[in-house]
Amino acid sequence: METSNTQCLVVGGGPAGIVLGLLLARAGLRVTVLEKHADFLRDFRGDTVHASTVRLLDELGLGEGFRRLPQSQLNNFRLPTEDGESVVLADFGLLKAPYNYVAMVPQWDLLDFLVEAARQEPTFTLLMNTEATDVVRDAAGAVEGVRFRTRDPQSGETMDTGELRAGLTVACDGRGSIIRQRAGMVPREFSVPFDTWWFRLPRTASEHDPVASISPRFGRGDVLLSLTRKDYHQIAYLAAKGLDADLRREGAQAFRDRISRLRPDLADRVDTIRSMDDVHLLDVKLNRLSRWHRPGLLLIGDAAHAMSPAGGVGINLAVQDAVAAARILAPALLSSTLDESHLAAVQKRRWLPTVLVQTFQRVLHRGVFARVMAGHEPRPPKPLLFVIRHFPGFRKLPARMIAFGPRPEHAPGFARRKPDA
Ligand SMILES: Cc1cc2nc3c(=O)[nH]c(=O)nc-3n(C[C@H](O)[C@H](O)[C@H](O)COP(=O)(O)OP(=O)(O)OC[C@H]3O[C@@H](n4cnc5c(N)ncnc54)[C@H](O)[C@@H]3O)c2cc1C
Repeated sequence: METSNTQCLVVGGGPAGIVLGLLLARAGLRVTVLEKHADFLRDFRGDTVHASTVRLLDELGLGEGFRRLPQSQLNNFRLPTEDGESVVLADFGLLKAPYNYVAMVPQWDLLDFLVEAARQEPTFTLLMNTEATDVVRDAAGAVEGVRFRTRDPQSGETMDTGELRAGLTVACDGRGSIIRQRAGMVPREFSVPFDTWWFRLPRTASEHDPVASISPRFGRGDVLLSLTRKDYHQIAYLAAKGLDADLRREGAQAFRDRISRLRPDLADRVDTIRSMDDVHLLDVKLNRLSRWHRPGLLLIGDAAHAMSPAGGVGINLAVQDAVAAARILAPALLSSTLDESHLAAVQKRRWLPTVLVQTFQRVLHRGVFARVMAGHEPRPPKPLLFVIRHFPGFRKLPARMIAFGPRPEHAPGFARRKPDA
């Protein structure tokens, strides 16, 4: 692999890493992205592409191609209420077109699409099946690259190991960031009342209409979300954190009963859950680092601040981090003047949006999820319900906050292109 003259090494090919790689390559920088998996086909990585990201894709000249990806549109975001009903918290239809919806796009389609765009740039390199295992430091302790191993996709056996060096390493390796751990950085953890279990259920022939919905169902102690894929339902079961061992001890039939209770319309196919091996735990985390950088190293996206699925904003926040990072870092990397102050500037730019969005998620955790997990009806704050019900125009404010987030980023000039050029 010819990567010896890489200027920026990006660890992790999720939304943050791929967008950062694309933008830096468009600035003419030699960038190498390492992704430990052989493809982007993970069952669940979140599907929501918010207006801030759609607008960014337009600015990058990729909007038309993005709109051709199979997708559906979410027009509002509802909050469950104590009477078992729900109320519209955010009405995206009140926002100005064409950024007046949340697109639901399987994340592998989005990542494949972005990688295809990045591969148009001669200075972009993506190494799949390549896992960073440690940081490499210089004599003064500054990070100057990573150790990696490549694996055989079939057997999982290690095929090769080595080191890659660059002037800057950016860790975009998600919630379980190995780079963060090896750099000795420990995030502050916030309590999360639930975990998520993922599985698939088939769609029947009569259901093959496009459905744009997350279809939340609230029970006493659990929640079910379903995303509609081409020929199956991707289901998320949410229940109290730490319940995994109990669920597995209870076994598949008890789990099928839980699902049928929440979604009687899917009871006819829960038998396709053959055993609890078909049900995958995703340990939900909400945390953030107080400092996102060290000499030679920057962390962005979930590696710097793991997001809960509440509100479905993490992908978009990770993308926004990448855009801000590219805008601030590209000129310094091009002129070889990069120092830690540039890395600190990225954190400074993205700190407020991160804290605000995580605070919003913690309010949702307390007001909705913690109550449901404890077997109560969800109880959003009464003043909020009063305002939503009596002043429908208010729904534009949360819609804007969810669709664009605080301090939305725009594509830097060097990355902009004419539509789908
Ligand atoms: C259950 C759940 C549901 C969610 N749903 C949504 C949603 O609907 N919408 C939304 O916006 N957000 C959602 N989120 C949050 C969202 O998934 C994250 O905030 C977002 O994916 C962060 O992007 P990222 O690029 O920082 O990290 P990730 O998406 O985690 O990407 C990290 C990448 O790095 C790779 N990697 C990891 N370690 C290494 C290594 N050592 N070497 C090389 N590669 C490595 C991984 O394979 C992965 O491809 C959800 C989160 C959870 C837990």
